[in-house]
Amino acid sequence: MATNNEDQFKKVVAHAKEYGFIFPSSEIYDGLAAVYDYGQLGTELKNNIKQYWWRAMVQYHENIVGIDSAIFMHPRIWKASGHVDAFNDPLIDNRDSKKRYRADVLIEEHIAKIEDKIEKECEKARKRFGEAFDRQQFVSTNARVLEHQKQIDEIKERYGRCMNDNDLTGLKQLILDLGIVCPISGTRNWTDVRQFNLMFATRMGSVIDDSDTLYLRPETAQGIFVNFLNVQKSGRMKVPFGIAQIGKAFRNEIVARQFIFRMREFEQMEMQFFVRPGTELEWFKYWKEERLKWHLSLGLPADSFRYHDHEKLAHYANAATDIEFRFPFGFKELEGVHSRTDFDLSRHSEFSGKKLQYYDAELGEAYTPYVIETSIGVDRTFLAIFSHALKEEQLEDGSTRTVLNLPPMLAPYKAAVLPLVKKDGLPEKARSIVDMLKYDYMVQYDEKDAIGRRYRRQDAIGTPFCITVDNDTLQDDTVTVRLRDTMQQERVATANLQQFLSDHLRPKVQ
Ligand code: ATP
Repeated sequence: MATNNEDQFKKVVAHAKEYGFIFPSSEIYDGLAAVYDYGQLGTELKNNIKQYWWRAMVQYHENIVGIDSAIFMHPRIWKASGHVDAFNDPLIDNRDSKKRYRADVLIEEHIAKIEDKIEKECEKARKRFGEAFDRQQFVSTNARVLEHQKQIDEIKERYGRCMNDNDLTGLKQLILDLGIVCPISGTRNWTDVRQFNLMFATRMGSVIDDSDTLYLRPETAQGIFVNFLNVQKSGRMKVPFGIAQIGKAFRNEIVARQFIFRMREFEQMEMQFFVRPGTELEWFKYWKEERLKWHLSLGLPADSFRYHDHEKLAHYANAATDIEFRFPFGFKELEGVHSRTDFDLSRHSEFSGKKLQYYDAELGEAYTPYVIETSIGVDRTFLAIFSHALKEEQLEDGSTRTVLNLPPMLAPYKAAVLPLVKKDGLPEKARSIVDMLKYDYMVQYDEKDAIGRRYRRQDAIGTPFCITVDNDTLQDDTVTVRLRDTMQQERVATANLQQFLSDHLRPKVQ
């Protein structure tokens, strides 16, 4: 839709603000870094995304139930989970620009640049060889590509070793050896690398001893693990089963930019699926595929997604993948699918002294279930959908229109009801249609300006259907329904409007 990705991203941010989707937080006080507020339309879209996920996970699976645990939790939970000791990012400052960076991100961005070079070589070759181009063969034989790949492998090997051994001096040395410069100052005047814990700390009145620090949860998952027994027993759940949750999470991100991609207060949709030990890798594969299907069901193109399987696994995981999406600033993580073994339940058993086990009647034995986790950010999903939907279209008459091609079932307003003119009883008829539809759908009434401008306004906020009331409506009780994406119009009987909307808005998730 725009000349380049940076332009496109700017348009996304500007459009989100102009039409009431997303505002910078505390804007009249000059904002608060990496915190955003959802406006009147953003809230509708966000709620619809959450509901779509909830339905796909909880309503469509009879063995998954949902909970809503508190944000405040006992401080020992974060000891048990490992967050107090290990939820760190390695940070590094540039002395000249005074800007702070994540050392790991600097290195990963450097690797991505070399990967881009490989892509460019492939692109060139594809143009040269046309139909006959065989990518696999090309990347395994072309000298320049092999040289780039060798560089990448060497960096990854060193980087992986430093991260595993918590070798901060090694990380700094790697940054120096790769000649990475600060994008602002252009210099290599780096400080040492330090670890920085991402949890926000606070204190709770008199309930907990003064010396105890409380944390704002950095993920919702732990609220699920500590309720494992409560849910399993009260719901008489049988393994395999899942517990889902949507809620706020907080991380004191070092480098928080890219709009709602990386925020300090954000929302997650997580599901922990408890399985028999030994079956976890089958379930991992299942959920990995299932989650990608969910993304595709939103109408996002398949080539905007890719899996990034983790080579370097966290000590408690035996498989992990990221589902990455092509954001306007490149492929980045949208969702994580992790096989977390029995780490979390075992640690909470150890730290709480309560046995978190399951008696499997079929096997006649008790065990600590293994866990597959699916974890997705609401805000990143919002950004993926919104940025993909925003388009500027060239029309046949030479004009352009801005249209937000949202999946209809996620659109803030499902329909706008528009009297063609503000007289002759048309507004009254239009209002009666609003009254008929409003109990089932978010609908908007609009009578201001010429009809063409009203259509454009609805296009820009993603309303899939405009229902126009004209003089014929008063004669034959039919209306014109204009479809956002094709701009085609059809005549529908008022009495059939409800059915028309429900047919077009039914979710496609199986
Ligand atoms: P990243 O590597 O991008 O920091 P992560 O690996 O730390 O992400 P997870 O801990 O796996 O992320 O969290 C699960 C999901 O929560 C992510 O896939 C993402 O969608 C979302 N998420 C994590 N951190 C943030 C954040 N700061 N702002 C918005 N969403 C986030």
